[in-house]
This record gives sequence, C-alpha cells and structure tokens, in this order.
Amino acid sequence: MTPLILIVEDEPAQVELLRYNLEKKGFRVAVAVDGQEALLLVDEESPALIILDWMLPEVSGIEVCRRLRQRSETKTLPIIMLTARGEEGDRIRGLDAGADDYVVKPYSPNEMVARVRAVLRRASPVLAEERLEYAGIVMDFATHKVTRQGRPVHLGPTEFRLLGVLMERPCRVFSREQLLDKVWGKDVYVENRTVDVHIRRLRQALNADGAQDIIRTVRRAGYAIDVKPS
Ligand code: CA
Repeated sequence: MTPLILIVEDEPAQVELLRYNLEKKGFRVAVAVDGQEALLLVDEESPALIILDWMLPEVSGIEVCRRLRQRSETKTLPIIMLTARGEEGDRIRGLDAGADDYVVKPYSPNEMVARVRAVLRRASPVLAEERLEYAGIVMDFATHKVTRQGRPVHLGPTEFRLLGVLMERPCRVFSREQLLDKVWGKDVYVENRTVDVHIRRLRQALNADGAQDIIRTVRRAGYAIDVKPS
C-alpha cells in the first residue's frame, strides 16, 4: 500500500515537480540524483516503481535500466524512462533496455501520475488503486482512512497494512508467514504470533459497533477476509 516511487533525476526542479504531484496523489517518494545512488536505493528501499531519467551523471539511466533487468530481484520492477529526447530511435532503445513506458520532457505532471498508475496497475493491480472496497468496508489509501458501513474505523499503521493485504484478495487465505512478509517485510524478524496480536486488534477495530466479524481464522492455515461464514 502507499507505494514508494523512486525518482532518479539530477535536475532539482524536475524532482520537486514530480515529488509534489506524486505525494499529492498519495504516493511515497524517494529520490536518487545519479545512477549509482539509484541502484543502491533500489536495494535499500524496494520501490514499487522507478521514474528514471535517461541523462544522468556517472551511470546513465539506460544503463541503470539494463542492470536492473539483469538481476532476478529487479527483473520485473516497473520502470518509466524519462528523457528530453523524443527521437523514435531513442524511444526504441529505451524500451529495448527494458523500460515499461517512456515519457518525453516536457510532460504534464497529471499525465505522469496517470502513467505511473497505468504501469503499476499492470504490475500489481492493488498498488494503483486509491480505494479498496469489500463488504461495506472502504479503505482510502490517499487519506489512510477506513470506514465500515460509512462509520470510521480507527486503525494503527500495522493494522491498516494488514487490512490492505487481506482486502486485496477477499476470501483468499493468507498464512502467517505470508502476512509477515507483506506487512512487516522480508528482512524483519517478527514472531508468527505477532500476526495474531495485530489480527486481534484489527478485529476489535472493525467490529467496534457490533458488526459481523468478517475476518476468518483458518486453523493451521491463516487468515482471510470473508463475509461467508466458515
Ligand atoms: Ca537529467
């Protein structure tokens, strides 16, 4: 949720324009000003998508793109190439290097946000959505607000992410390990029972008004969000 977009661009004015427009639409933003830093940040921050300028000091954008495509962890990481050149040949080179899309400067910020969403939607449908809705529960990712039958539900950040994962695929059962990876991240050591603690809090918050419990506990398997009785 709240996908992180990595902007790789050496012109401060371009960075600020992009940052402002992406943050306004509810995205988180990280910035690298050259190719080396971009490769480092990709490892450290695991962005959901990269906006990659072609003309960069040191390692060019196209080289960064090639290197990312060669590594298994970043082979499918969505990349939008950004460039001042509009020549057909360059466009083809950019797409050949593995970019998912190609935007020519100057561009309108709204168009860029639309492209980001389109590329994210193809890569990971839920990341591009501003809202998720299931069984009267509405999650708004831009404002981080949740309602159930129109009434506000107050969640901590962990419960919010947990609900997001469950709402992404209603009725699907997620194991505790899967929830740990998706909510806390792969590199963090958290005990399995921590998931149970946060599921309990999420249940309490969702059912505060005595509504039907829609979090299904599946013995030895995990949890799902599901309106059907188990
Ligand atoms: Ca540049």
